[in-house]
Amino acid sequence: MRGTHRMSNRWDAVVVGAGPAGSATALQLARAGARVLLLDRARFPRDKPCSEYLSPESTRVLERLGQNVLGAVAAASPARLTGMKVVAPSGAAVVGRFETFSYALPRTRFDAILRAAAEAAGAEVREGVKVEELIYERGAVAGVVARDTYRARVVVGADGLRSVVARRLGPVYALGPKRVAFAAHVADVPDVHKLGEMHVGRPGYVGLGPIGKGVTTVALVLPLAEARRGKRFFEELNRFPGVAGRFDATRIVRQVLATGPFARWSRRAVAAGGGALLVGDAADFFDPFTGQGIYSALRGAELATAAILTTLATGASLQPYARARRHEFTGKWLLERMIGIAVGWPALIERVVGRMIRRPELADLLVRATGNCVPARAALSPRVLAGLVL
Ligand SMILES: Cc1cc2nc3c(=O)[nH]c(=O)nc-3n(C[C@H](O)[C@H](O)[C@H](O)COP(=O)(O)OP(=O)(O)OC[C@H]3O[C@@H](n4cnc5c(N)ncnc54)[C@H](O)[C@@H]3O)c2cc1C
Repeated sequence: MRGTHRMSNRWDAVVVGAGPAGSATALQLARAGARVLLLDRARFPRDKPCSEYLSPESTRVLERLGQNVLGAVAAASPARLTGMKVVAPSGAAVVGRFETFSYALPRTRFDAILRAAAEAAGAEVREGVKVEELIYERGAVAGVVARDTYRARVVVGADGLRSVVARRLGPVYALGPKRVAFAAHVADVPDVHKLGEMHVGRPGYVGLGPIGKGVTTVALVLPLAEARRGKRFFEELNRFPGVAGRFDATRIVRQVLATGPFARWSRRAVAAGGGALLVGDAADFFDPFTGQGIYSALRGAELATAAILTTLATGASLQPYARARRHEFTGKWLLERMIGIAVGWPALIERVVGRMIRRPELADLLVRATGNCVPARAALSPRVLAGLVL
C-alpha cells in the first residue's frame, strides 16, 4: 500500500495501458491506497478506432467509479442512444429499445476523462512509455521493462488488442472469422437519430451512430480478404442499402483509422506463476458488432481490482480473478460470439431480422442483453433462440 514501497521504481501495481481497462483499474487501486504506476506508449488525448457507444450498463460502472467520472462524461456533450437499429442486407430493419439510454462520445474525450480520474485518485501516470518485456522473480512476474525497469507486486496488462503483456504470459489465440475495421467521424449525416445502427451486408457490416455535437461515427468492418481488395472507404459504405448516399466525403472531420484483424483470446487471464493479470481487450476481444468492449473493460477492471487488493493485503493468489471473469462473462462471450459469427451469414441475419420485425419483444431482449441490461442467458434460452430463427 502507499508508503510501503519507498524506492522510486517499486510499485504495488504497474498498469500497462491507459485505455478504459487500465485507467479504471488504476483509479480504483489508487483510491484504495495502493501505490500505482499507469504507463501508456501514447500521449493523451489519443484516439482509438471504435464506434464509441458505451452500452447502457456502462453508466452504472462509471457511477461506481465516481460521480466526478460520470459527471465529466455527462458534461462532455455526449449523444444519448435509446436503442439499436439492425438492418439486414435487403434493407429490412428492426429497432430494439433499451429500458434506459446509453452514452456515446469520442474516445479522445472518454479515455482522457478516465485517465485524468486515475491521476486525480493518486495513480502516477507516465505517457510515451512503451512496455517491451516482463521481469520475473522466482517464476512470478515482478515488473516490466520499458526505457526503465519498473518493479511491482502486480502487473496489469491492459494494453489492448495487441497486448505485449498477454504475449509474454503465454499463447494468444486468434479466433475466426478474421475481420478488420475502418472508422471515421463525419459531420451533418442525414437521418441520424438517437439510435446506433448496424447494417449487415454481403460481406461485412457498418456500425454508425451519433457521438454528440452533430458528429456521426461510422465503422466499416470487413473480412480481411475483402479489405485487401482495397476499395475506398466511402465507396464501400455505398454498398449498404441503408447507408448509401448518406455520407458526404467532404464532411469528414476525423480521418479514417484502421485496426485488426481482431478476434483474439489470451488463454491465461492470470500469469501461471502469479504476479500479473490481463484486463480488457488484452484478455479477450472477439468482434465489435455487439459493442460490449468498453463495458467488458470497465467491469473487468472492477473484478481485477478486487483480486489485486486481496493479493496486496494478504499475499493470496490472483486466480480468483480468472474464476470471477468466467462467472461474469461466460454468457456474454457466448452471445457475442454467436452474433459475431451470424453476421458473416447474410441469409441468417435476413431471417433473424424478419423474425424480430414480427416479434419486437425479441428485438428489445436481444438489444438489452448485448447492452448488458439483462443477463446474456436470457437471450440464450432455447425458446428465444428458436423464436429468432425458426
Ligand atoms: C471498429 C471497432 C468498433 C468498436 N466499437 C465499440 C463500441 O461502440 N462500444 C464498445 O463498447 N466497444 C467497441 N469496440 C471495442 C473497444 O474499442 C475496446 O473493447 C476497448 O477500447 C478496450 O479497452 P482497453 O482499455 O482494453 O484497450 P484500449 O482502449 O485499446 O487501450 C489500450 C492502451 O494500451 C496502450 N498500449 C498498447 N501497447 C502498449 C505498450 N506496449 N506499452 C504501453 N502502453 C501500451 C495503448 O496506447 C492504449 O492506450 C470497438 C472496437 C472496434 C475495433
